[in-house]
Amino acid sequence: MEKDQLVLVTGAGGFIGGHLVGDLLTQGYTNLRAVDIKPLSDWFQLFPEADSRQLDLRLRSDCSEAAGGAEWIFNLAADMGGMGFIEFNKALCMMSVLINTHLLLAAREHGASRSLFASSACVYAAEKQERTENSGLKESDAYPAMPEDGYGWEKLFSERMCRHFYEDFGLETRVARYHNVYGPHGTFDGGREKAPAAICRKMIEAQPSGSSEIEIWGDGEQTRSFTFIDDGIHGTNLLMTSTVTEPLNVGSSQLVTINKLVDIVEEIAGVKLRHRYKPDAPQGVRGRNSDNRLIRKRLGWEPKITLEEGLERTYRWISDQMKSPARTRTAAMA
Ligand code: NAD
Repeated sequence: MEKDQLVLVTGAGGFIGGHLVGDLLTQGYTNLRAVDIKPLSDWFQLFPEADSRQLDLRLRSDCSEAAGGAEWIFNLAADMGGMGFIEFNKALCMMSVLINTHLLLAAREHGASRSLFASSACVYAAEKQERTENSGLKESDAYPAMPEDGYGWEKLFSERMCRHFYEDFGLETRVARYHNVYGPHGTFDGGREKAPAAICRKMIEAQPSGSSEIEIWGDGEQTRSFTFIDDGIHGTNLLMTSTVTEPLNVGSSQLVTINKLVDIVEEIAGVKLRHRYKPDAPQGVRGRNSDNRLIRKRLGWEPKITLEEGLERTYRWISDQMKSPARTRTAAMA
């Protein structure tokens, strides 16, 4: 792959896609096409050096336009959000199968040499995640299949399509199973935000309002691991440039309860709030963590940035955005 060959990033107006475009430019890639369904004014990060286009990748014709001439494809486009979104929008989440199907067909049609699919820890089988103690989900734990309803089934199905496009048509595919990626330039309000951003926002909102409590979904004892965006991007690049065609976890293995996550943000914010639990809110599985043995073996690397460090940077960014609403979104424009 030469650095002047065309690289397509889909979902480029979103969180991970925006960071990836920025990183590829920093690495010296000079021919980048960035695609998202959102108007350019709504993109989280917009880089003038990239050819940025508004396309609806559910449509075969738009996928064909996006993939034309592309050597590499990073497919990060999906209709998704945090637990609150995927629990109540299962059909919408499953519609992303149109994006993934049409983009694979377009990649084949236009002779792309490699395509990476953004999968998720939501593909893992429910029975492996029933307890808060979770030493890590290894890649084979996705089967026998019982993934997260809606979103997880779509991801697992699209993973299989990647596998069969490789086996039957020779299209080189890569599959990254991301575990709760968070960081600056992501969603922190509006209903699609995930736990780290939501907790930072609630903590920041509580301060001027004088509120002494914070709402936590469930009993707060459910466990997760959270991956800082810089690690997510580094893992994505390593996977894409590797020869690994099987799915790989791209996730931190620092397991915490949601209560601990709140404690860390309280420490950063310098406040202590009473926890008000909301037992009927969507919580997802009881315990989920990333087993990193395979990624260490295949790529000689695993995510390293601690939750304390990543949350500090995320909190500061969200706080800045909330203090200066006019800067929101446009602040990221390069
Ligand atoms: P995001 O919502 O910020 O970005 C996804 C982007 O895809 C959005 O900007 C959206 O507008 C775009 N999109 C949706 N439908 C589209 C369409 N029809 N055509 C073109 N673009 C469309 O989400 P993200 O956090 O950046 O996630 C990127 C990818 O990684 C997604 O596939 C997601 O499922 C996956 N993933 C993310 C996480 C995470 O924690 N962030 C975890 C697991 C998997």
